[in-house]
Amino acid sequence: MFLAGSAAIVLGTCSSTSSDGAATTPPVSTEPPDTDPATTTPSTDATMPPTLTDAPTTEPMVTAVASPETPSPPGLTTDPFTLGVASGDPDTTSVILWTRLAPDPLRGGGMPDEDVLVAWELAASDTFATLLAAGTATATTDHAHSVHVTATPPAGADADAELFYRFRVGDFTSPVGRTRIAPTSAVASASFVSASCQNYEDGFYTAHRDIADQQLDFVVWLGDYIYEGASQEIGAAGAVRSHGTPEPKDLAGYRDRYALYKLDEHLRAAHQSCPWFVIWDDHEVENNYAATTPQDPAETDGFVARRQAAYQAWWEHQPVRLDPPAAAGEYRISRAIQWGDLIGMSLLDTRQYRTDQACGDITFSLDPPCAETFDDDRTLTGTEQEQWLFDTIGKQGTVWNVIGQQVVMADISLNGAILNYDQWDGYPKNRERILRHLADNAVPNAIVLSGDIHLAGVAVLRAGAAIGGADGTPVAVEFVDTSISSGGLVPPETADLVKSFKEIVDVELAHRGYTMHTVTPSTWTATYRIVEDALIADSTVSTYGRFIVDAGTAAARIG
Ligand code: FE
Ligand code: CA
Repeated sequence: MFLAGSAAIVLGTCSSTSSDGAATTPPVSTEPPDTDPATTTPSTDATMPPTLTDAPTTEPMVTAVASPETPSPPGLTTDPFTLGVASGDPDTTSVILWTRLAPDPLRGGGMPDEDVLVAWELAASDTFATLLAAGTATATTDHAHSVHVTATPPAGADADAELFYRFRVGDFTSPVGRTRIAPTSAVASASFVSASCQNYEDGFYTAHRDIADQQLDFVVWLGDYIYEGASQEIGAAGAVRSHGTPEPKDLAGYRDRYALYKLDEHLRAAHQSCPWFVIWDDHEVENNYAATTPQDPAETDGFVARRQAAYQAWWEHQPVRLDPPAAAGEYRISRAIQWGDLIGMSLLDTRQYRTDQACGDITFSLDPPCAETFDDDRTLTGTEQEQWLFDTIGKQGTVWNVIGQQVVMADISLNGAILNYDQWDGYPKNRERILRHLADNAVPNAIVLSGDIHLAGVAVLRAGAAIGGADGTPVAVEFVDTSISSGGLVPPETADLVKSFKEIVDVELAHRGYTMHTVTPSTWTATYRIVEDALIADSTVSTYGRFIVDAGTAAARIG
């Protein structure tokens, strides 16, 4: 784990048994703190944070944590926290806290050309009256003055408690974020969102406003966080906002594009509301790129360097528990996450290792697939990641076993024709190996989460099914989330045709939004939230439908 110079001030913790073996009751402070934590001098007084006072047995004894002072960098005269704060990748002991200092966000950030010390604070309430942990991290010029802090609440603290965090530099204090760590054992219920595809020009982030209003455990982001497209005038090609800059092709360009997106108040609010697990799709680099092959073969020269710049900018702007990308080559983002005994999830990268799209990546062709489509070695995951998935899925001891990934896995072929070679339909042998693995290993309660295609859908995936066939064994339910804002790709008038495909349970093609998942040991409920009109700000958000999977079945019923 990359700590970016993080130097946490360590907490004193203890159980209700003191070091000499005598049972003790830690002193409980009933008085509010008498000074602003920012000006508190380090103290060894033991006090109980307010949210821990009613713990009946093993009360953690939290030593008062002092907030570190950070010098005000020369030349920093305006608020550097324009891009907000975020948290992510919680495990059972810690969570990643993120911010990036950018007083002039759309022009390279505007920070002085030096590394800057940033203070961070973790607390049990948004008053920050008592800190659970605090420290400093170095925001470096090399990484656009971003910081990724591993924040660890004291051992023995309530693993299910809300946590609050903020950053300070000099006289400036960031907005407050809400987060949590992952639960440790039995989980009765969890709620989270899967979301993707937020083209800034195509619509407003009303869906994020709605996400921020939910009391979620976490968000899973399935890709297309930025779009790399050039700038359009507002009103041209349906654009309701403008990127304002050319297509990014270098580090500076990608950084400014992320900054533009993060300036959106609703996106910042969604990040501030709960921790996120973030993976990417294609538009974080370039539309439909495959490994080191760009969409346009004429741009092959320099594409590896461009991809590297895009990967670095992604890391700089996401609250991920990953080292920053090294100078060149592979950058692994696939990882497993776990939510107690309830949800295990393998997050995949289906861009970096894939074979180039077959048949010239033609879309909506009604011709039979070209022969290469069925080559055994065509891969969407890469061989190594495929094996990692087999080693991970169903091995976490959880009720539900989830694959979180980018592109639609369901068979949406039409009379044998493949309509979209960028999806799993274009990699049928790789798909069949995965579905066969789920069947052969009796992986229980398998769920696939997908994005990319800007429509809401529910499908039942089958192992051993012929392309477009009626045979096969149901092995998983796929939930496709529609786009936050990116324009629809499949015409709404084709809904009845799409619903007639063998694996499709339902689709909604006309609206933007996201999917909220409410998960218990007995049921998985996916609630499709849709924005009435993403082309106007402050539209309304409503529920399109609910789809329920009963544990022990690979079927979805309307709830
Ligand atoms: Fe997209
Ligand atoms: Ca995509």
